[in-house]
Amino acid sequence: MPRQLTPSELESFPSLDWHEIAPRLTPALRASIEKVLESQNGSDLSLDQSCALAAAEGDDLLGLLVAANLLRAELAGNIVTYVVNRNINFTNICFVGCKFCAFSRGPRESDAYFHSLADMAQKAVEAWQFGATEVCIQGGLPRGLPQFYYRDLLRAVKSAVPGMHIHAFSPMEIVYGVELTGMPLADYLFMLRDNGLGTLPGTAAEILDDEIRHILSANKLSTAQWVEVIRTAHRCGIRTTSTLMYGHAETPAHWVRQMRLLREIQSETGGFTEFVPLGFVHQNTLLFQQRLARTGPTLIEHLKVHALARLLLAGSINNIQVSWVKLNRRLSQLCLQAGANDYGGTLMEENISREAGATAGQYTSPEDFQALILEIGRIPAERNTTYSRIRIKLPLNEQDWTTEQALEAEFA
Ligand code: SF4
Repeated sequence: MPRQLTPSELESFPSLDWHEIAPRLTPALRASIEKVLESQNGSDLSLDQSCALAAAEGDDLLGLLVAANLLRAELAGNIVTYVVNRNINFTNICFVGCKFCAFSRGPRESDAYFHSLADMAQKAVEAWQFGATEVCIQGGLPRGLPQFYYRDLLRAVKSAVPGMHIHAFSPMEIVYGVELTGMPLADYLFMLRDNGLGTLPGTAAEILDDEIRHILSANKLSTAQWVEVIRTAHRCGIRTTSTLMYGHAETPAHWVRQMRLLREIQSETGGFTEFVPLGFVHQNTLLFQQRLARTGPTLIEHLKVHALARLLLAGSINNIQVSWVKLNRRLSQLCLQAGANDYGGTLMEENISREAGATAGQYTSPEDFQALILEIGRIPAERNTTYSRIRIKLPLNEQDWTTEQALEAEFA
């Protein structure tokens, strides 16, 4: 039986050294980890070896976390990135009825809303004036949406702020748009791209297993549909993020299979920019009230998912993001020390997690991010959506450094 870790012992993993912890690991698990540390490639692990990592406890778990942090330093350096963005949910009216969602409303509910195109454009203008480089636009799926609504929304935002990167529409919204217009998927995506769509959030993935998906939402797009939208988007030159929601009705084997599926897609298309584990926020959801889910992730699960992602996705998706909205400040820092290298967006407003009971707030300023990152001894840097532009930000002396300067200092 692996020994139980006390919470303080678990949280002290960042101070451990791999060579110190390695001799205490189960030999097979240590060999798996060492294989990935050496090759920096998660594809070297079999399904069974990956599942064994996902089941790690006690010293094995500490070893996994320490190794993930080491691998992160090698693959992503000591920079922690973030993007200055605004999250805009254009409506909370939705007919899909996902049981994990506390955000959606029926059209007649008193707090249902639907922002006009002019309001959406205005919000994007405000974001631009505030220094945002990206707007992240998603919403509920209301019945009877105008046929070309998603295209028109892009046009409204893009004509108001031509320089803004639009990161918008989940694969579920894309499937709905295709349904509304009757267009072939690729043609629909090309049309959106030509009207200003920059990248697509890889949300609506939750767990890519139809049995679990059926528990979460009987009306949601299937695993095959999600994969088809993502593969087609990548083929159309639209990059996407990738996500996984954990802490509800799934098991660690689902995490492993999903990460392996994402690797497989990435090896074909190269279109994923990052992987974002999303902890289930249970408080105000039907899924929890109907006892179909556990009470969200434990501390161990939060840390383990991020560490596992770093190992299994190594050499495939090297940007692992913490979703700070769903974690508190300390936990987000711990996850950054368990394999992650990106803080996501400042967001400005984030309605979905807040409605479900998350308490991390609606906005983290760039200065807050910088302070949180410096606190754990890493280097803050603002990035654009696709990580193609990274700018070091050191607030203490208010000086912007170039990446080259920071790397020089770091590796001198
Ligand atoms: S998660 Fe999205 S699709 Fe599902 S009910 Fe909520 S708003 Fe609708």
